[in-house]
Amino acid sequence: MRVPFIAGNWKMNKTARESIDFVQEVADKLPAPAEVETAVAAPALVLQSMVAAAAGTPLRIVGENCFYENEGAYTGEISPAVLKEIGVNYVILGHSERRLYFHESDEVINKKVLAAIDNNLLPIVCCDETMGRQAAGDKIHWVVSQIMADLRGLTEEQMKTVTVAYEPSWAIGTGQSASSAQAEEGCYLIRQTIADIYNDELANHIRVLYGGSVKPGNIAEIMAKPNIDGVLVGNASLEADSFLKLANYQ
Ligand code: PGA
Repeated sequence: MRVPFIAGNWKMNKTARESIDFVQEVADKLPAPAEVETAVAAPALVLQSMVAAAAGTPLRIVGENCFYENEGAYTGEISPAVLKEIGVNYVILGHSERRLYFHESDEVINKKVLAAIDNNLLPIVCCDETMGRQAAGDKIHWVVSQIMADLRGLTEEQMKTVTVAYEPSWAIGTGQSASSAQAEEGCYLIRQTIADIYNDELANHIRVLYGGSVKPGNIAEIMAKPNIDGVLVGNASLEADSFLKLANYQ
């Protein structure tokens, strides 16, 4: 049984104070974690205080990125070991904004996924899909090859720790979500790819999320699809009210 996973991705949109206020505001209004798991991702600088604010509540704290080495001459980078040390549970890797603005390749993302798992962080691996590729009709090839490259070399045990997010970039931050049928198609494709590489049992165990303009008004329809186990939400996760509506969508 896959527990639904509702994750906010704040990106670079909140101050430290706002982040803590948010956690305190939502903490006692969240569903029981055995029913619906809830999480928010924030910039590295505020994670430690968010972990402290969320202690004893169901809310999980997520890093938005990390590097693939734990120490060394990498000015400005954040190691997976430090994220783990301060109590972060998950880390988003391969978000389309990282690919676009910071030129992260599948090879780099793959190294980051392996490093995160080595440090007992749970990776949320994002799979992109651009408008150009959709219009050109090669979505299937693109999604499959990307997921294969990002997860290359993971053992079955390592793969069990992964959550995958299908995030078509034409739907991210545009207010125009994929239809629930398109979202289901992308998530199904990812699950099938995992079944092909590993096996059906593992594919049925893995949570696959949809992300791209999810809001309180469309979450129920999206979550009703059989291959969608959760959502990764940017804009609509910023306000506590809106996040609580998403978390309590059932
Ligand atoms: P959005 O962002 O909900 O604002 O479209 C989603 C994401 O980038 O994960």
